[in-house]
Amino acid sequence: MFESDKALELVPRYREFLEKHIIPLEQGAIYGSFKAHLPALHALRAKAKELGLFAPHLPVSHGGLGLSLVEFASVSEVLGTSPLGHYVFNCNAPDIGNMELMHQFASPYLQETYLRPLERGEIRSCFAMTEPEHAGSNPVHMSTTAVREGDEYVINGHKWFTSSADGASFTIVMAVTNPSAENKYARASMILVPLDTPGYRMIRNISIMGDEGEDYLSHSEVEFVNCRVPVSHLIGEEGSGFSLAQVRLGPGRIHHCMRWIGICERALGMMCDRAIERELNPGHSLAMQQTIQNWIAESAAEIKASRLLVLNTAHKIEKDGAKAAKEDISTIKFFVSDVLMKVIDRAIQVHGGLGITDDTLLSFWYRHERGARIYDGPDEVHKTVLAKSILKSRKG
Ligand SMILES: Cc1cc2nc3c(=O)[nH]c(=O)nc-3n(C[C@H](O)[C@H](O)[C@H](O)COP(=O)(O)OP(=O)(O)OC[C@H]3O[C@@H](n4cnc5c(N)ncnc54)[C@H](O)[C@@H]3O)c2cc1C
Repeated sequence: MFESDKALELVPRYREFLEKHIIPLEQGAIYGSFKAHLPALHALRAKAKELGLFAPHLPVSHGGLGLSLVEFASVSEVLGTSPLGHYVFNCNAPDIGNMELMHQFASPYLQETYLRPLERGEIRSCFAMTEPEHAGSNPVHMSTTAVREGDEYVINGHKWFTSSADGASFTIVMAVTNPSAENKYARASMILVPLDTPGYRMIRNISIMGDEGEDYLSHSEVEFVNCRVPVSHLIGEEGSGFSLAQVRLGPGRIHHCMRWIGICERALGMMCDRAIERELNPGHSLAMQQTIQNWIAESAAEIKASRLLVLNTAHKIEKDGAKAAKEDISTIKFFVSDVLMKVIDRAIQVHGGLGITDDTLLSFWYRHERGARIYDGPDEVHKTVLAKSILKSRKG
């Protein structure tokens, strides 16, 4: 229903690329050293460019494939089947969100200096909004400030969960610039900070359930102490930070949800393969057990429902805009993250002890995708948004 000719042609090409070139690198890059695999991953980026598959989300004039949101969603599902998929094709979070934001709102100077190298995959970026001292689910409550002094902003603040800051070249930081604005949503701005600016410091990569990760696969705690950047590094208008954040989040949720569906698809495949090959007795496989069959059937149905919901939401965003699709965007966020948790957990259970070892990708996903119910707005917040909207419509 949502498949264009372009997506139908591209999806098998991405699938083949993943199987041939990316999956063989997974075990080393994920459980070994990601940094040590950077030369190999960059060689794959060059190959992707040669084959005309690089940066599917970008306009053709910027070296991409010019896919629509719905088309990109189908590609994103395939790329999500590997933790390295989006990275190789330069459409990984948080870079993709920063690219979309800068494409619309950054000045020609910022686009030339920072966006173009990001689009070409020469540098990486990150996004620093959440602070350890305040509830991230209510980001208007924030201590980081950017005070204007002459032609500069002086930034002071403490952030964490700045994903992929390790090895990034710049961050987009959310900071209060207009503390006395009456509207609390008009107090903060987004400012681009090159990470070699004096006063910026990466404190640590935060250990996530025992894994600090590194480079792209990490989440950092960072600080800004009298960190000075030119006022020309402001993105959009002063005080527009929260309205820009909304623009960033609409398509962002489609990207995340389709990536999660890709993970589910791969985990379901692994669940089935293991159930078929594992014998409880000679000639009696795990797949013959009704409980396992139930898990397979439930997972397949939930994945299919998720896909349709997300593609429908992407279609609505394209047709009517993110504001009109607000209910749908909240729905997919909590629905698909819940499906993701269930499918990964069932796949681990079917694998038994093997499921919790690092011999398969399941343990990586179990650790790192638990965050799916927390980032991009905790699920509870999205449920409240949806319920309030439904209740309001009942009142008429
Ligand atoms: C893997 C991962 C990557 C991230 N990457 C980034 C990044 O790159 N940049 C960045 O700035 N931030 C990032 N974050 C931070 C993320 O945006 C915040 O964790 C999120 O906004 C929640 O904020 P918090 O952690 O402070 O939880 P809190 O706001 O303290 O909330 C804690 C819990 O309270 C409950 N809750 C909150 N509000 C409500 C409500 N209204 N109703 C009912 N229950 C509620 C929810 O269960 C929630 O999980 C990332 C987080 C994770 C886990």
